Amino acid sequence: MTTFHNFIGGAWVAPLTGEYFENRNPADQQDVIGRFPASGVADVDAAVASAQRGFERWKRTPAPARGDVLRRVGDLMAARKEEIANLMTREMGKPLAETRGDVQEGIDTAYYAATEGRRLFGHTVPSELANKWAMTMRRPIGVCGLITPFNFPMAIPTWKAFPALLCGNSVILKPAEDVPHTATVLVEILLEAGLPPEVIQLVHGMGEVVGKALVEHPQVPVISFTGSTETGRFVGETCGRMHKRLSLEMGGKNAQIVLDDADLDLAVDGVLWGAFGTTGQRCTATSRLILQAGIHDTFVEKLVARAQALVLGDGRVAGHDVGPLVSEASREKVERYVQIGKEQGATLRCGGARATGGALDAGFFFQPTIFTNVTAGSRLEQEEIFGPVLSVIQVATVEQAFAVNNGVRYGLSSSVYTSNVNVAFRALQDLDNGITYVNAPTIGAEAHLPFGGVKETGNGHREGGWEVYEFYSETKVGYVDY
Ligand code: NAD
Repeated sequence: MTTFHNFIGGAWVAPLTGEYFENRNPADQQDVIGRFPASGVADVDAAVASAQRGFERWKRTPAPARGDVLRRVGDLMAARKEEIANLMTREMGKPLAETRGDVQEGIDTAYYAATEGRRLFGHTVPSELANKWAMTMRRPIGVCGLITPFNFPMAIPTWKAFPALLCGNSVILKPAEDVPHTATVLVEILLEAGLPPEVIQLVHGMGEVVGKALVEHPQVPVISFTGSTETGRFVGETCGRMHKRLSLEMGGKNAQIVLDDADLDLAVDGVLWGAFGTTGQRCTATSRLILQAGIHDTFVEKLVARAQALVLGDGRVAGHDVGPLVSEASREKVERYVQIGKEQGATLRCGGARATGGALDAGFFFQPTIFTNVTAGSRLEQEEIFGPVLSVIQVATVEQAFAVNNGVRYGLSSSVYTSNVNVAFRALQDLDNGITYVNAPTIGAEAHLPFGGVKETGNGHREGGWEVYEFYSETKVGYVDY
């Protein structure tokens, strides 16, 4: 079995704990990818000490030169795109078409970051006083602790690491324990592109140990966390107490609204991909479908037929539409919610059980599942399941559709299908989400646009776009008398 290491102090090293965990393919539990460090608090301490040294050097490197490193990172990722997509599918299950997109998002983020290296502007501002020059400038902050989830193993670490590095900070990456291999390849590429070694550290291990130690470390002034709202609550409380700069990206309960005047075939394609792509494990996954009464029955018939025709299997095999869930714990959570849906009187229209038989028995597969007659306010409609379960809610009017969309504690993405341009613009204005799509599913992001949610999904910061460069830098003011 291959043994992988942490990258700490400018070298690939074994964990000080001497302990490891196994990483297996969720489509085939017999397929062991390797063993990875189960690091401890002392490993985090060593990573922080090294990252502080790296910061002193990197912050003096001109921003355009930092950008040049990231441009080379983009080139190297592009050259290895197919290889990375394959190992990512083996590691977390989503089909190759999706893991290729995940790597492409990393490439786009690298090229975008490279251009920002020549645009890290401050302003000159007219002073109230004579013979005084006033200006603002952007400064790096220090060591950034980045804690990432399993569902976008390349895109999300790059969303955090590339702008952090471009701004002149050093980085400690703590990837989700389900996807340590992809994170290892990302760090290999950063080093090959010429990033000075102590500027990046990679510490593998469990969230409750490594993630917690990073969040609680007094010499880590910046934390960027993407993951569940439950974990984010702990991270937020700790960072608040310690006055850390914190970006939180957490759960979602995203809805697609289909109105009576919509293009139904387009909307069926949208919800199929939005609900069952990545086996429903996207932060932007469509987990609620809000249908206006006039098209409800026709739409459900079309959708159920398409969902039942989806082919499940190993995502590396052509023709497989949907891969496994990432873990047995995730599958058990999905099963609990199917039970809750039945108990609360929703109608199970398709799926609802493990997908079994042949090769499927070796992995964590679950049938694409659709409930109709779901009541707004019920647990099925309110809580994040993070699996291939879609809840259909029927409404009479546009106003009701918007109210149902807004009636959850989360606020990441929403979508509306309509041919009425006035309703489309009302949706952009009135839906309480960080992102609203018109005539497109609830999923998808571009590196140079901000990404993130409102309400209990986030804390006001954004990944991507110019906004993320503000998060990873401080504004400083200079006054010069002459
Ligand atoms: P998770 O909360 O279980 O884990 C996320 C990360 O936090 C992992 O690296 C984990 O090891 C670490 N962690 C766990 N306990 C910790 C602790 N006590 N202290 C510090 N770190 C700790 O989430 P997950 O299952 O990997 O990802 C799924 C969740 O992420 C879903 O809720 C999904 O909506 C959310 N998500 C949100 C976005 C977004 O942009 N809003 C994007 C992707 C995923």
